[in-house]
Order: sequence, then C-alpha cells, then structure tokens
Amino acid sequence: MTEGLKEAVRMAGVVGAGGGGFPTYAKLLAGAEVILINGAECEPLLRVDQQLLRDETGLVIEGLRTLVRACGARRGVIALKAKYKEAVLKVKELISRGASGGEFDVFELGDFYPAGDEHVLVYEALGKIIPEGGLPIQVGVVVANVETAYNVALAMEGRPVVEKFVTVTGAVKNPVTVRVPVGVAIRDLLELAGGPAVAPFAVIEGGPMMGREVDPREPVTKTTKGIIVLPADHPLIYRKRANSAAAASLARTVCMQCRFCTDLCPRRLLGHHLEPHRITRAVGSGRAFAPEEVTQAFLCVSCGVCDYFACPHGISPRLIFNEIKKILAQKKVPNPHRAADLQPEEMRRWRKIPSQRLLVRLGLEDYEHPAPLIADRDSLMREVKTVTLPLKQAAGAVPKPVVRPGERVEKGQVIAEVPAGSLGVPLHASISGVVRKVSPEMVIEKVGKE
Ligand code: SF4
Ligand code: SF4
Repeated sequence: MTEGLKEAVRMAGVVGAGGGGFPTYAKLLAGAEVILINGAECEPLLRVDQQLLRDETGLVIEGLRTLVRACGARRGVIALKAKYKEAVLKVKELISRGASGGEFDVFELGDFYPAGDEHVLVYEALGKIIPEGGLPIQVGVVVANVETAYNVALAMEGRPVVEKFVTVTGAVKNPVTVRVPVGVAIRDLLELAGGPAVAPFAVIEGGPMMGREVDPREPVTKTTKGIIVLPADHPLIYRKRANSAAAASLARTVCMQCRFCTDLCPRRLLGHHLEPHRITRAVGSGRAFAPEEVTQAFLCVSCGVCDYFACPHGISPRLIFNEIKKILAQKKVPNPHRAADLQPEEMRRWRKIPSQRLLVRLGLEDYEHPAPLIADRDSLMREVKTVTLPLKQAAGAVPKPVVRPGERVEKGQVIAEVPAGSLGVPLHASISGVVRKVSPEMVIEKVGKE
C-alpha cells in the first residue's frame, strides 16, 4: 500500500513546490513520526500558501493525510503564521469537523523571517533540533510545502503536476496570485497582473531574500513561487547583481567585525557552528583560511539575513560562502559538520527578524499589497499558447524526452522520464499541442482550437 502511494506520487511528478524541488516520493520514508506542512511563507510579498490554505483547505489536508499514511506517521501538523487569520480559522474548522480523522494539529507561528527554514520550522513547531547539515527525517519528521501537499492530493486522483500557483507582485498594476500551466513565460504572467507599473523594470523569481533576478522570457517551473517586479534601479536589484568578488572586496575594506552577521544568523541561533564574521575577517586579513572557516560554508543556507538585514555595510558573507561551496563541491570535499547535540542560543527569541522590519530594510514597504488568488483560473489557462518546459526542474536525475518534435501530446501525458532506479520524477505536458523542441527544454505549441 505504502509503495503504491509513493509510486503514485512519483509518477505524478510531485516535487517540493517551495523552492528546493526535491522529489516528494523520496522523502516518504518509514520511521517518520510527524508530517509537518510548511505554511510559513516567510518571504515578504509572497501570497500562495496562505491562500491555498484558506481556499483549498480540503485538498491540502487530504494531501497531508496521504503523506501520513505513506510514511506510517502518527501525526500531521500544519504550521502557518498566526497572522494568516482566515487560513488559520479554515484549517482549524476542517480539522475540528473531523476531516482529519483526529490526528492532525495546527501550529501558529510568529511573524518573523525565516520561519519557513526547515530547521527553524521544526524547532518552532515541534521543539526538535535537526543536526547540522542534517535532514528533518533524522528527528523523525518529514516537511512538505503547502502546495506540495495539494499536489499529492491531486496525484491520488491521477492528476500530475502540470500547473503552478504563482504570486505576481511588486511594481505591477494589479498584484495577483494565479494558477498557470508550468512552462508559461514569466512575461505572460506580468500581463495577468496588468503589466509592469514602472519602466525600465527588473524581475525577481522567488522571494526578495532568496530569489534571483531573471529574464522575463524565462518560463515558470514547478518550483516558481513568486514573480516580483521592481524598478530597474531599486537597491534590491543592485544587491541581486552583486557577486562574490564584490563581496570580498567590501569585506576587505569595511568589515568592522561587529559580529551582527553571526549574532543574527538563524542557523547560528539554533546552535550551528556557523560564524560568518570569521569568513569576512579571513578575507579581510588576506591570510590563508583555517579549515573550519572554509567548511562552515556547508552550514550556510543562503537565507540572506547576514547581508540583507544584519550587516550595517551590506557585506555579503552569503556570497562568499556560495563561492566557497562551489570550490568544495569541485574538490569533492565532504561536509564534516554533523553535530547533533546542539543548544539554541539564549538570545534566540529576541533575535528573530520581524517581517515588517525586514520589509522596510529591503525597501519594499510600498509593495506590501494583497495579491488575491484569481477565481476564474480556467480562462487564464486557455490563453496560454506555448509552454517551455526545462528538462531540469527538480533535484535528481534529468528526465529524458520520450516524445519527438512534431509529435502531438495531450495535457498530462508523460513527455520525459528518468532512467529506472534513479532519483527523479517524470515531466508531463502542461498543455495539449505539438512538440516543437525536446532539449534542453521541451517546447509545446497549442495548434488549432482547443
Ligand atoms: S555584520 Fe558586516 S561589518 Fe559586522 S562583522 Fe559581519 S560582515 Fe563585518
Ligand atoms: S546567509 Fe548568512 S545568515 Fe543565512 S545561513 Fe548563511 S551565514 Fe547565516
């Protein structure tokens, strides 16, 4: 039974919809005691998960129920911010009505960043500390994003992942959250939000903290959560364009060793041996790095707190760590940091970053608007004429095309599959049409009347 559920989730192409894109079936391991649904949505401006929890509560809970069964878990917990009042009420209502079968709870999070970081979330909601460099399953927990749970519920109905919920916000005329086919061009999404309200503009895919600047011609993938339009000269856009060489140069010239980057680092506050001020000191001194200064890069999750919030000079230990991580990967150096007996710092409760202060620090307070989920989703779907589906959209093996150019495909049909036994999920056609290209991305064009 459990294997059947896992295979159904794999075949539907379900991956973490919240950023990482890890294949969900591979997380469904025996031994999990708790399935924790991550509804924190802690990146400023994003609005997908809180609205799914409010409007698609039944499906999210159904997905959670499936995950609990697949893992043989004892409990399911939905963690979301207390400030998502309507969603909290709806989830509690359905659970109290018995929709959960009695084994589910709600945990209300504070309004801080990064409440949705897996290590932070598991500690906040369950009081468990995941070891350094470790996974939630090491403390008996499987974490799944809200939209991932929603997709698991659809998978049980035989419906693969062909659509994505995306918040389109920032400097657009009408911020919205939409459900669109995977593969639609970002520039087409901008039209759904009334178009950019500024010129020239730049686009961030993801949240303001962990997202990246993208070309609007790029497609929406299974992990796209937000599209944020900003004036091209917005300070955050300049920050997104910074590189590790610029970060090192700034560290050399102005780092004053105040330690704010270390004192506010969310992983450090959980007890991880991560001290970003030491890497900026090493860069500044020009001396050879000590081994522990280098390998602590493994513990950095690029949350952006050190550079976007903590450092008075805007120095980015994060970018320096990213560069070190690349070098360590090339040299195949394993992560030596695996401490499990971690003690959160006493000051932790006072050092969480309030979301509103973060918004102001990022210069985004003028863009803090609702982005309502558009009800008439089907009409949006019909307007899409072409989709571009990168073969690599998730962690694991890259699926290989199983259709050819010129072939007609139907929405939901498998168009690329991973080799047997490899970690990975198949890719499905997100619209019906004719295949125009198969690699490195698949292009499907709608022909005639649908
Ligand atoms: S916060 Fe900035 S100035 Fe202070 S130690 Fe860290 S990098 Fe240096
Ligand atoms: S980006 Fe900075 S604050 Fe975040 S985990 Fe890495 S070192 Fe810590």
